[in-house]
Amino acid sequence: MFKSLCRGLATSTGSSVAKAAKKSVPKLQDVVIIGGGPAGLSLLAALKASSVTSHLKCTLVEGSSLEPIRKFGQDPPEEYTNRVVSLTPKSVEFMSSKIGSWEYMNQERVKFYDNIVAYDSQDRAARIAFDGSSLAEDGGFLAVMAENINIQSSLLQRIEAMDPEVAPRILDNTKVVDIQSPEEGSPVEDWPIVKLSNGESIQTRLLVGADGYNSPVRKYARIESRGWMYNRWGVVATIKLQYEDYRSIAWQRFLTTGPLAILPLTEENATIVWSSTPELSDILIKTNPAIFPELVNAALTLDEVSLNFIYEKLRVNPDDMSVLEDIQWRQTRLKITDLEENYPLPVVEVIEGSRAKFPLKLSHADTYTAPRVALVGDAAHTVHPLAGQGLNMGQGDVESLVGAIEKGVLRGMDIGSPLVLEPYTSDQWPGNHALMGVCDKLHKIFSTDWAPIVFVRGFGMKSLNMFDSVKDLMIKSISGKL
Ligand SMILES: Cc1cc2nc3c(=O)[nH]c(=O)nc-3n(C[C@H](O)[C@H](O)[C@H](O)COP(=O)(O)OP(=O)(O)OC[C@H]3O[C@@H](n4cnc5c(N)ncnc54)[C@H](O)[C@@H]3O)c2cc1C
Repeated sequence: MFKSLCRGLATSTGSSVAKAAKKSVPKLQDVVIIGGGPAGLSLLAALKASSVTSHLKCTLVEGSSLEPIRKFGQDPPEEYTNRVVSLTPKSVEFMSSKIGSWEYMNQERVKFYDNIVAYDSQDRAARIAFDGSSLAEDGGFLAVMAENINIQSSLLQRIEAMDPEVAPRILDNTKVVDIQSPEEGSPVEDWPIVKLSNGESIQTRLLVGADGYNSPVRKYARIESRGWMYNRWGVVATIKLQYEDYRSIAWQRFLTTGPLAILPLTEENATIVWSSTPELSDILIKTNPAIFPELVNAALTLDEVSLNFIYEKLRVNPDDMSVLEDIQWRQTRLKITDLEENYPLPVVEVIEGSRAKFPLKLSHADTYTAPRVALVGDAAHTVHPLAGQGLNMGQGDVESLVGAIEKGVLRGMDIGSPLVLEPYTSDQWPGNHALMGVCDKLHKIFSTDWAPIVFVRGFGMKSLNMFDSVKDLMIKSISGKL
C-alpha cells in the first residue's frame, strides 16, 4: 500500500516536473508578433508572402479571439460594422502587390471615392473642395473606405491560404503576460522571452510590438512614448442616407467641438466619425435613435449657437422629441440655397448598436526599434483621426520594416540586430512625425471660435480653394502619388 502510494506520488511528481520542464524551455522563433490588429496581421502576411523572408519561423499572438474575423470572411453581417477606415492608394497598392491580400477583401463592402469637401462651421463661405476624379484617368482614385474587419479578414485569409510549408503559427485568445530578458548563460543570450497566458514561453530573434497604444512590447523595450490626450472622443456610427449619393464625396465639417466627418459607403450607407468633447460624446451616444439622424443633419448645417441649444435639451433628456421641431424650424430659417449641391445628403437612420466612442490622443514613440525589438502601427504612434491616417501609417511601417528585414536576410545578417532594424526607424519616423504634426495643428486651428483665427483659417480655405494647381499637388500628396 505504502509502496503504491509512493509510486503514485513519484509518477505524478515526475510528470509535473516533466510538464514544468516542457514549459520552462522556450520555443525558438525568428519573429514573434504581438497583436492581431491590422498592423500585426499585415506584417505577418507580408513576411510570409515575400520570397526572401517566407522561410522565417513566425508566430503571432493575439489576446482576443480571431473567430469573428474568420466568420466575417464566410458570412459577413448584413449591415456595415462601425469601425471603418479610409485607406490611401499607397496602402491599397501595398496590400495588392506586396501582401497579396486585397483580392481577399469583400469587394462589395468597399467604396472608392474621389472627392473631399471640408467646410467651416464659423464661416459659411469658408470651404475647400478636392476633386480627385482626374486620378481615375490613369486608373487611380483618391481614397477607399473599408471596414477594419474586412481588412483583417482579407489578411487572415491570405495567410491561411499559404503553402503549409511556410505557414506561420497564430495563437489567438492568448495574452502576453510577461516579456523577460534571458538569464546569463542562455544559449541565445539576448533574445527576449515572451511568456503567454497558455503557459507557453517563446524566445525570439525579433520581437515586434503590433500591440496597440498600450504596447507591452514598447514597455519591455523601455521606449518612451510622448504625447497627450485631446480631451475629445471620436464617436462612430453607421448611418443610412436618404438615397445613394453618386457624388462619392467624403465630407468634413469643422465644428469647434471637433470635426464631424460623413464618409461614403456603398449604396445608401455611410459612416460618421464625430470628434466631440466628453460631454457632447455622452449626448451623442445616449440620444434616442429616432432623433440621432436629425442631430447629424443639424450638425452638418446649423450654426453652433443653435447646436448648443439642441445639445443642452438632449443632455437633460436624450428622448426629448421636441428637439425634432427645433431642428426643423432652425433649418427652415437657414436659407441655404445650395443645400442639395454643396452639402451631404440627409441622414435618415442610424444602425442600431453601431454607435461607439473612442478617446482621441496623440502619441509617438521616441524610436521604433531597440535591439531585437521593433514597433509598428498604434504601438508606435496614435494620431487624431481627422485626416484618416492612423492605419495607413501602420501600413507604411509594415512595408518599411519588411524591406529592412529583407535587406538583412539578403546580406546574411541577424534580423534582430540594430544594423538591420535602425534603417526602419530612420525611414518611417520623420515622415510619420511630420504627418502627426499636421493633424495636430489642424485639430488646434479648427477647434477655436476665436475671431482672428476664424478669419485667418477662413481666408486660407477660400484662397486655397481658388488655386487648382496647389490643390492638384495636395490631391497627389493625399493619394500618395507625389
Ligand atoms: C474613430 C477612429 C477613426 C479612425 N479612422 C481612421 C481612418 O479613416 N484611416 C486610418 O488609416 N486610420 C483610422 N483610425 C486609426 C486606426 O483605426 C488605427 O490606427 C488602427 O486600427 C491601429 O491598428 P493596430 O493593428 O496598430 O492596433 P490595434 O488595432 O490596436 O491592435 C492591437 C492588437 O494587439 C492586441 N494586444 C494588445 N496587448 C496584447 C497582449 N498583451 N497580448 C496579446 N495581444 C495583445 C490587441 O488585442 C489588439 O488586437 C481611426 C481611429 C479611430 C479611433
